[in-house]
Amino acid sequence: MRVVETCAEMMAACRQAARPLGLVPTMGALHEGHLSLTRQARADNVTMAASIFVNPTQFGPNEDFARYPRSLERDLELLETEGTDLVFVPPPDEVYPEGFDTWIEPGAVAEGMEGAARPGHFRGVATVVAKLFTITRPELAYFGQKDGQQVAVIRKMNHDLNLGVEIVTMPTIREPDGLALSSRNAYLTPEQREAAPAVYRALCAAEDVWRRGERDAARVQRAAYNILERETLVDAVDYVSVVDADSMRPVETVQNDLELMIATAVRLGSVRLIDNVVLG
Ligand code: AMP
Repeated sequence: MRVVETCAEMMAACRQAARPLGLVPTMGALHEGHLSLTRQARADNVTMAASIFVNPTQFGPNEDFARYPRSLERDLELLETEGTDLVFVPPPDEVYPEGFDTWIEPGAVAEGMEGAARPGHFRGVATVVAKLFTITRPELAYFGQKDGQQVAVIRKMNHDLNLGVEIVTMPTIREPDGLALSSRNAYLTPEQREAAPAVYRALCAAEDVWRRGERDAARVQRAAYNILERETLVDAVDYVSVVDADSMRPVETVQNDLELMIATAVRLGSVRLIDNVVLG
């Protein structure tokens, strides 16, 4: 496994690498969710590359950039065990050198939900992913359904800008009690950790109502709110949304011919958890 810190060296390494090359972008603090992506990438490609970069431009000024969990040594060990060929670990000023001033601005797909709650978040995500794509030129790139709107933003950018990468979406990996694995779960107190599976329970309740024939999106959402509002350690529900899974546009009536996503963001104290389920 080769660990690379500069863009120039990563570009050169990828240009020489045997193809196809699969890329797994991450912010580190790796868990089984990330490893499900690297395992698929390992199986699909001759060269498997991962990146570990806590991208400052996707964090708002009052968000957790400084305290985001970092565990580089352990991450590298895990990636080596999973058969990674190349790991890109650039320092921030390598990705954003002095004077950096060009951005990818996603459109309507990034307006609602996480885009509304975290202004500028998807501009940072799209810009860094575009840079990672141009540095590594992967045939395939792997993302988790856990961040459903992020996948939609990246797919749209990839399509609109003809980046030509095959985007592979992998299912959300969960704890046995349903909580989606996330690096941010490490922030939860034991009491909050116990309450956190309510997020997935709420989504399942909404899905269940839909399965039983409810087609009014407001009533589907209500089923999720009912569970979340009952949980005293849930301090705020930023949103429960029923959206078209491609465009992220909210729907009022759940139609059978659209792939839909029910997504939520919930705050337990200072910890913000997001999760979603796809209907169909
Ligand atoms: P992050 O390090 O949080 O930026 O995540 C890197 C990639 O791993 C993203 O594509 C995430 O969607 C994906 N990911 C994070 N958590 C999970 C999970 N529980 N299941 C599947 N993929 C995940």
